Amino acid sequence: MKTPPLSFEFFPTKTPEGAVKLRAVRQQLYVHRPEFCSVTFGAGGSTQEGTFAAVGEILAEGVAAASHFSCVGATRARVREQLAQLEALGVKRLVALRGDLPSGYGAGGEFQYASDLVAFIRAETGEAFHIEVAAYPEVHPQAKSPQADLQAFAAKVKAGANSAITQYFFNSDAYFRFVDDAYALGVDVPVVPGIMPILGSSQLLRFSEACGAEIPRWIRLRLQAYGDDAASIKAFGLDVVTDLCDQLLSAGVPGLHFYTMNQSQAVGEILGRLQER
Ligand code: FAD
Repeated sequence: MKTPPLSFEFFPTKTPEGAVKLRAVRQQLYVHRPEFCSVTFGAGGSTQEGTFAAVGEILAEGVAAASHFSCVGATRARVREQLAQLEALGVKRLVALRGDLPSGYGAGGEFQYASDLVAFIRAETGEAFHIEVAAYPEVHPQAKSPQADLQAFAAKVKAGANSAITQYFFNSDAYFRFVDDAYALGVDVPVVPGIMPILGSSQLLRFSEACGAEIPRWIRLRLQAYGDDAASIKAFGLDVVTDLCDQLLSAGVPGLHFYTMNQSQAVGEILGRLQER
């Protein structure tokens, strides 16, 4: 099976040892010739300097890099400054997000939604960046309604986004329905499915609860039943996620974006299996 354009997402590491390991992970994944690699921003307490440093390394390795960029709590002056820093680094692609404030912080900041950030980036930097935005086939957890969320997505595209990456999902129907509905609203940019390899059980269950991604009952029960049996979880996860990618590729999706969790093995195995099909 021919794979479409691929992208790999990493998060910045916190230690020099972590950075060394991540370099090796990236090299293992570069054999799959990604269209670009992206680095998260401010997620899980990571620093923005860490994001820019990792993005700089990827560019120096000869691979296109996208910096995630969130605006929650930020001022226009600060965003302007950081955009200039990214342009100077040679970054041509951004994943523009609202982001989430850690609990305990008030809202503040001069941007309310990602659509405000997209409009600001376009107004300030013209076409300097290819802008990706986030999409939620299973509805963002804070959305007023599925329809309101869909309209918020369409507004981000209208504000100037070039393409979108979805939150991960395990139910492809949710993705297909979302794309059909978005296109009916006039969205005309590629919506690339975000793929989460199943690397373990408890972290995935906890994380999915927080970000509003549904783990179908049959997957959840199987994962819970495996308990600490990491080998069975891994084997099951590879089967489930390879089948999901297969379904998406058969339907002609415009690309696959992997949430690598800074690990190469599962993603490499999934891509290898897809090529054999
Ligand atoms: P928005 O598009 O602004 O939407 C946020 C909420 O507001 C939604 O519920 C939406 O329905 C609602 N909304 C939007 N516009 C309006 C409006 N005009 N009126 C009323 N309601 C509205 N987080 C990080 O911290 N760092 C990262 O690097 C990161 N990378 C991500 C990458 C991808 C591909 C995805 C899918 C998510 C990522 N996230 C990241 C998580 C993201 O920051 C959170 O999901 C956040 O809660 C929403 O960000 P957003 O850009 O989708 O926000």
